[in-house]
Amino acid sequence: MADVIKLLPDSVANQIAAGEVVQRPASVVKELLENAVDAGATKIQLIVKDAGKTLIQVIDNGCGMSETDARMSFERHATSKIREAKDLFALNTMGFRGEALASIAAVAQVEMRSRRATDELGVRILVEDSTVKAQEACQAPQGTSISVKNLFYTVPARRAFLKADPVETRHIMDEFQRVAMANPDVFFSMHHNDSEIFHLPAGNLRQRVVKIFGEAVNKKLVPAEQETDILHISGFVGKPDYVKKTRGEQLFFVNKRFIRSNYLHHAVMSAYEDLLPSDTYPLYVLFLDIDPASVDINVHPTKQEIKFDDERLVYNFLKVAVRHALGSHNVTPTLDFEQEPAFQQRLTPTPQMRQDRDSGSIGSYRPSRPEPGEDAARHASNLEHWEKLYKGLELFGASAGDPSRTMGDQDSKDNPPFITRPGVEVLEMDDDAETFSKGQREPYQIHSQYIVSHLKSGFLLIDQQAASERVLYERYLQALENQPIATQKALFPKTVELSGADAALLRDILEEVNCLGFEIAEFGGNTFAIHGSPAELQEGISEEMLLEKVLAQYKGNLELQLGTRDNLARSMARNAALRRGQTLNPQEMQDLVDRLFACSVPYNSPSGRKCFIQFDLEDLQKQFS
Ligand code: ADP
Ligand code: MG
Repeated sequence: MADVIKLLPDSVANQIAAGEVVQRPASVVKELLENAVDAGATKIQLIVKDAGKTLIQVIDNGCGMSETDARMSFERHATSKIREAKDLFALNTMGFRGEALASIAAVAQVEMRSRRATDELGVRILVEDSTVKAQEACQAPQGTSISVKNLFYTVPARRAFLKADPVETRHIMDEFQRVAMANPDVFFSMHHNDSEIFHLPAGNLRQRVVKIFGEAVNKKLVPAEQETDILHISGFVGKPDYVKKTRGEQLFFVNKRFIRSNYLHHAVMSAYEDLLPSDTYPLYVLFLDIDPASVDINVHPTKQEIKFDDERLVYNFLKVAVRHALGSHNVTPTLDFEQEPAFQQRLTPTPQMRQDRDSGSIGSYRPSRPEPGEDAARHASNLEHWEKLYKGLELFGASAGDPSRTMGDQDSKDNPPFITRPGVEVLEMDDDAETFSKGQREPYQIHSQYIVSHLKSGFLLIDQQAASERVLYERYLQALENQPIATQKALFPKTVELSGADAALLRDILEEVNCLGFEIAEFGGNTFAIHGSPAELQEGISEEMLLEKVLAQYKGNLELQLGTRDNLARSMARNAALRRGQTLNPQEMQDLVDRLFACSVPYNSPSGRKCFIQFDLEDLQKQFS
């Protein structure tokens, strides 16, 4: 019997391979845009007709190609981006397989014009069905323009398989947005059927995000940044009050390459914890930069998944980065003073406040509103707003001293609404919630867990443990910075013997531990002598126990790579904080509340738990009606 195996003609082989790379017009868009980025272009234009079915053209001002390279570029596995296998592990281009142009040319009519800066004339090449139909010198601007016409004309079955124009256009826009997002320093534009859909001037990432997702997100972006030895995380996350019911504004890039990852998505979501309403998605645009040697992108030409050497570590870093971002930018939704019109009303100075301001007395209202949209200024002013809320309260509180300063009294008596708590006294309030009896102004505790603290406009329910953890954390950070905590000297030093590993650890961080109010000295071997402990320590917790717990916590945090100080402050705060179930007297409660709102980030505990929830009288009244 005759031999039956034959090599396929190139054009057929290319067509088969093309199925991998070119699934729809959007795939062509992605490949061409990425080539333009790889070519170092600063200006990239995309022109699309009929959802890419008739024309996809990308014009760039990048490095261009020589005549030979231009022709070579259509050969399968022809690439300028890697030379040998090891280059794969140091990849800094989007492309590397040298398959895209060959694949596209197998299923469409492709016209390329290209000129390098150093060449006087450019080159024009026409390829159809994997065959060069024309090649000639031509006038051309520097850079490359590639037009892809009549996609899949060689494979009608595939063409018939394409979705309706709006769907394919959506896919194209998605790819366009991803490449544009990853390269904010490059100008991008997109035209579809003669109308300009995107016009994205070169700028920074924030500008790019806003241009792509819309002006409304500008005030909702919180920068995220985390640097570790193996990974750099940067980008933006949306405030928790800006969420959508559907996905679409969540983007991860690893080394500028867009990827999908449910695993990493989960890390971000878990950082938001219960800040989000259920079934909603926050916005995020996050860039993970990692040594190319520790990721594997070489799985599939259109692969959007990625494999990390150590996924869990990446997960943790990401979570920490997002938490830090949310925590350090004061983004609990109801508390964004500059955003919430309701708050601005509440903060309108009352006559009494104006009077106070003029006389410069304690309850004075100091209007110092930053320009709208100034993020940093807003950040700085949130704290001041807190003061105002409380200062307003002081006007009617014991600290204001003079009961005659109570305002709104007259009006309120005319028609006081009542709020009753079962078994408790009737609480009288006026419409503006500006008067209430003295007994109600002091914070009180419920279930030995929560503290109720009054605001002019309602009240806060404070989680004593989380709040205490936050307060101590910031205090400890300060202590480690430059204000050591006072030590309570022990009458008789205690000795503790640690395991070898713990002893080594403690030796490493002994200086820092002693800044936190301990006075610990090495005692030989793995034994340490405790000569003193932090003066402010809760009762009922022994210094040895505290030390052991702190060391254990510190070790547990190591993989988060927080740095010695941050880790130690967290570990210590976690273990020295008030517990649930601890009864507090009014003075202790007031101290805690005051100290919490003196914190730079009163919203969350360092481990991410909410410190308080705000209840608004207006909202409560609505719920009752
Ligand atoms: P890859 O990008 O994987 O190298 P492609 O098939 O996409 O493979 O491109 C093949 C080669 O053609 C590239 O390596 C590059 O040298 C050249 N090339 C493609 N597009 C451009 C462009 N817009 N500007 C300059 N060179 C380009
Ligand atoms: Mg390419």
